[in-house]
Amino acid sequence: MKDQETLLRSLIGSKALLNGFNNEEVGDDHLYEVVETPMKRGAFLLNDEEKKERISELFAEIMDVMGLDLTDDSLRGTPNRVAKMYIDELFSGLNPDNKPKISLFNNSYRYNQMLVEKNITFYSNCEHHFVPIIGKAHVAYISSGKVIGLSKLNRIVQYYAKRPQVQERLTIQVAKELQKALNTENVAVIMDAKHLCVSSRGIQDDTSTTITSFYGGVFNTPEKIAELQNYINN
Ligand SMILES: [Zn+2]
Repeated sequence: MKDQETLLRSLIGSKALLNGFNNEEVGDDHLYEVVETPMKRGAFLLNDEEKKERISELFAEIMDVMGLDLTDDSLRGTPNRVAKMYIDELFSGLNPDNKPKISLFNNSYRYNQMLVEKNITFYSNCEHHFVPIIGKAHVAYISSGKVIGLSKLNRIVQYYAKRPQVQERLTIQVAKELQKALNTENVAVIMDAKHLCVSSRGIQDDTSTTITSFYGGVFNTPEKIAELQNYINN
């Protein structure tokens, strides 16, 4: 066991692990709809501090290859800043320790219609280009007897957004998490987002946005979809 761990540690950061696939084939077409974020075995053998140290070294190398002068006052701290930002902020949702703790309350008002929280701003990053996805999430559920603190809806969206993502998976991950937490199929999630990999590069379309949706349980009927759309568009 110890030997295996040592071996895995020595492999981390070696190029061997990076050569397994050709990501150009995935490219701009966001093809995959896998619910789980693809994580390798041993993803948490390094702790956060070790990961930051390693990312900082590697990012310094990228900057160096691009010809930037890392002794320059303004650039010197960049590798450290990027490493800290990746682990503590932009990609903090990769670490299950950062998953929000969900507490539920009794639905003492016996409110039995849909609850909609709309316009939840989120910032994510496209996993194909590592540039931002900026969007709004609209989340709805019908209580199965328990209700959730409203801010937890935001926190669940933020947690899954803080990963390298494709919007389809992000939408499904948020919906599945809510279904599990609220113990009901009756959950809907709609996301409307701008992908900087589409606007700032590639096709350079600055006006398009991408919409994805998940309608679970009773939400998957024309009436409920229309009702929800009506609330969101109001
Ligand atoms: Zn992209």
